[in-house]
Amino acid sequence: MPSKTIAKKAKKVAKKRAPKAIKYVYSFGKKTDGDAKMKNLLGGKGANLAEMARIGLPVPGGFTITTDVCVEYFANGRVYPAALKSQIADAIKICEKESGKKLGDEKNPLLFSVRSGSRESMPGMMDTILNLGLNDKTVEGLKAKSGNGRFAYDCYRRFVQMYGDVVMGVQARTENEPCPFEHALEVLKKEVGVEVDSDLTEGNNKEVIKRFQALIKDRTGGAFPQDVYEQLDGSVGAVFNSWENDRAILYRQKYGIPAAWGTAVNVQLMVFGNLGDTSATGVAFTRDPANGENVFYGEYLINAQGEDVVAGVRTPFPIAQLADDMPKSHKELTVVRKKLETHFGDVQDFEFTIEDGVLYILQTRNGKRTGLAAVRIAVEMTKQKLMTQKVAVMKVPADQISSLLVPIFDTKAIKNATLMAVGLPAGPGAASGKIVFNAVDAEAEVAKGNSVVLCREETSPEDLRGMIASDGILTSRGGVSSHAALVARQMGKVCICGASDIHIDYGAGTITAGKTVLKVGDFISIDGTTGKIFAGSVATAPSEVAQVLAGKLKAEKSYTYQMFDQIMKWSDKFRTLGVRTNADSPEQSKIAVAMGAEGIGLCRTEHMFFEGDRITYMREMILAPDEASRKSALKKLLPFQRKDFNGLFKAMEGRPVTIRFLDPPLHEFLPHDDASRRTLAEHLNVSPEVISERVHALHEENPMLGHRGCRLGISYPEITEMQARAVFEAAAQVLKLKKKVKVNPEIMIPLVGFKDELDHQVAIVHRVAKEVQAAKGVKIDYLVGTMLEVPRACVTSSEIAKTAQFFSFGTNDLTQTTLGMSRDDAGSFLGKYKDLDILPQNPFATLDQEGVGALVKLGVDGGKATNPNIKLGICGEHGGDPASIKFCHNVGLTYVSCSPNRIPVARLAAAQAAIEAGA
Ligand code: PEP
Ligand code: MG
Repeated sequence: MPSKTIAKKAKKVAKKRAPKAIKYVYSFGKKTDGDAKMKNLLGGKGANLAEMARIGLPVPGGFTITTDVCVEYFANGRVYPAALKSQIADAIKICEKESGKKLGDEKNPLLFSVRSGSRESMPGMMDTILNLGLNDKTVEGLKAKSGNGRFAYDCYRRFVQMYGDVVMGVQARTENEPCPFEHALEVLKKEVGVEVDSDLTEGNNKEVIKRFQALIKDRTGGAFPQDVYEQLDGSVGAVFNSWENDRAILYRQKYGIPAAWGTAVNVQLMVFGNLGDTSATGVAFTRDPANGENVFYGEYLINAQGEDVVAGVRTPFPIAQLADDMPKSHKELTVVRKKLETHFGDVQDFEFTIEDGVLYILQTRNGKRTGLAAVRIAVEMTKQKLMTQKVAVMKVPADQISSLLVPIFDTKAIKNATLMAVGLPAGPGAASGKIVFNAVDAEAEVAKGNSVVLCREETSPEDLRGMIASDGILTSRGGVSSHAALVARQMGKVCICGASDIHIDYGAGTITAGKTVLKVGDFISIDGTTGKIFAGSVATAPSEVAQVLAGKLKAEKSYTYQMFDQIMKWSDKFRTLGVRTNADSPEQSKIAVAMGAEGIGLCRTEHMFFEGDRITYMREMILAPDEASRKSALKKLLPFQRKDFNGLFKAMEGRPVTIRFLDPPLHEFLPHDDASRRTLAEHLNVSPEVISERVHALHEENPMLGHRGCRLGISYPEITEMQARAVFEAAAQVLKLKKKVKVNPEIMIPLVGFKDELDHQVAIVHRVAKEVQAAKGVKIDYLVGTMLEVPRACVTSSEIAKTAQFFSFGTNDLTQTTLGMSRDDAGSFLGKYKDLDILPQNPFATLDQEGVGALVKLGVDGGKATNPNIKLGICGEHGGDPASIKFCHNVGLTYVSCSPNRIPVARLAAAQAAIEAGA
């Protein structure tokens, strides 16, 4: 090979071997490298500082060390990438040029703030250092430059404290010990007779600094560093390390922020709000984050540094007052407010400092807000053309829309309430009432005009009447898909479940939590949105939206309703996924339709067997010794079922109604206490022993995997026959009404795992349909399908689809059977699983997409392979969970079905899924 070519090649290789150094440091200010789109690399704060600098807002200059550095730092055993040092040195030079000051200069020192900033804001979770660059010498330079010794030493005192605490770890050693710096400061303030920090003289501050430095020496054996570069190094390291502190880890777990994101570090020129009475510092929202009103909202302190506002040492003033105190700055701030909203297209939460009359903006981010505010802001900003409709829909967290529908505790009343314990929030809203332990007492108290909260270790179908009567339901056991939780959600009842810190003693008639002991008949208040349980009565207020939907308030009278309605209309415009409801009664169905349900996706027929005499007939049927007596009992149940279905069909006015045939293990219907066994024995004219024996015979070790679902209809085909007859006779009745009402029944067979099981049941349904249509002389359009809720059904879905006209994924059971975790008992260990990040989300609330979701996908693909037009729904509790709804959209389901109160959430989440997928 000619030598020239070799040389060329070597050059090429060398080029390849020495890639351009990775950029770890991004400047902002007069020279700005980044922008708002670079949140992943620069963190939210860094990206927005760059963006604000770009649009000409007064941002003090500085630089951002990227999140990549954080990731590499932890990956390499807390060692920085080699190229970082020189890149920081270059960025400091730019700051020095911009400010005309120099880091460590004894005459004209440059000072920095050092702050964290991850992709998503984690307020207060990580560390911050202010006034970096001060030491025993530079403080004199600051004094000379500012002509203000009190100010210079005030800054130095703050810096020594922050550095000593955050970087050198001088902190309280026990929970009962005060912060050692605060303690030393308090001692001196007492000695010199000063109440607020800003009244400390230069001399006082000097003395405090001396004591602080001695404290550091005493505690760490090392000295507070006088070298400003060492200070910077220590501070940057401390901020990175704070990504892994307990608070930050906990926050990340709660909000699902991955540890792998890391934080950026922002190093920014200090500006001073503590330079005297012409200086101030504050935080502001461009709109009210509590109710969304378009007013300038915020607070400030004169002669203070940023931390003072947040720390609550002094009480800040409302921002409106700044118009009197500093009219020029207030006017400038109102201009900034408008510019920020227009540019970022959302409500901003920003920090500002006024240094001797000059305004600076230190950070901005999208403001956190309540559900109510989110809706109002989205609607009003869209009307102002600051957002598009799609953005507005994306801006309301789907879960939060439900906060517009539930009763809430009166904000004043809740402040004085005594918190007893916290359980799993299972049915949002607020309920306050007398404690009752059973259905009979619940109904009796309600008949007397009292509100009650049904408190039980856990509920079973026997408690249903009590649940209906109660304003709220509280259980000490069971998870978010326990009986209590799913019934409460479906009924729109306030519910807290699995509150393991309370002890319910049925015998003693007491509820105990720590030292608080309440008795039956005492008042208790529960907040199903937060899971908080309060002793005593707390006043509640109904939501306006709920009142309008129930026809009790005119839509024109409620601005909140109008905003809610607008978001719902926009959601419907963008979503492609249907939304149905899980409902068992005409009342629930009507509420669901008012909320926007397009059909019933699951009517659990077993819920219909608990009212009045029905339970007795049901028990008679279960205990029947032979087919003839079983048929006679079923005959008595038939008219009730027919009436139920008639009511549902009328309420749904032609919308599809999915009726699931009997599913639960039969022993759930049996009398478990002596009194109800005796009553039943009398009714059946047998001895109580006969009942006990039969109950014993029906006992199963694992009822959830036992004689339930289609196995019941296969063992006792007469049950399926009765239910089918009730459906078709009801349909015939409604079709023949004078005022025409369409009927659209979809019969659903539960817990199928084999095509033959479904074939067996479907044959009965078709036979009865034929008989009823012939007898009544009507044609009924109906479908027969199945639930996919055991793994085998998903695996063999292409076979099952040869018979099934639709599938509905029963993800409660599918999760239970796929994970091998009992939906009622998993609560006892899921907490630990969450802590260890094994299962960060409760799989009974949010679909386990890799496991259960893969089976759903298999079920969908198999079903479509056999019948490309097969209707596909989901009716497990996941049908009302936004993350799971997104999955359902992406996997190609036709609809989700959820409890009535979750319907607005589902409509919004479905729209968000469609928009995200590029609708
Ligand atoms: C399911 O299993 O997901 C389902 C909807 O049925 P159930 O909760 O009644 O078992
Ligand atoms: Mg099921």
